[in-house]
Amino acid sequence: MKCIEFQRLIPDFINDNILNEDKYEYLEGFIEHSKECPECYDELEIHYMILEGLDKLENDSKTSFNFKEELRMKLNMHEENIYNEFKINVIVGVINVIAQITLFVGIIMYFVRLL
Ligand SMILES: [Zn+2]
Repeated sequence: MKCIEFQRLIPDFINDNILNEDKYEYLEGFIEHSKECPECYDELEIHYMILEGLDKLENDSKTSFNFKEELRMKLNMHEENIYNEFKINVIVGVINVIAQITLFVGIIMYFVRLL
């Protein structure tokens, strides 16, 4: 992911608005870039502080303002989700293959019995 693309996605990431077919791919690229590019991470942190800070001031002034930690937790959470999604995709893929093999074998057996 390029810096410009990352920065375009920052508001969507903070608002959990990355609604894309390739959502997980996008998120993965986003998280990866946040680790590799300190400039963009700073940018993300600033945006996060502004957006979440405004939200908190309006709604709940008692909550702690530990934005840096919160942002890190948010990134970790998404990273875990991506990993889980990946595992599910692998399992579904394996089940599909097994189902297809079973079907294939079933068809062969059917014809073998006919002969
Ligand atoms: Zn960057």
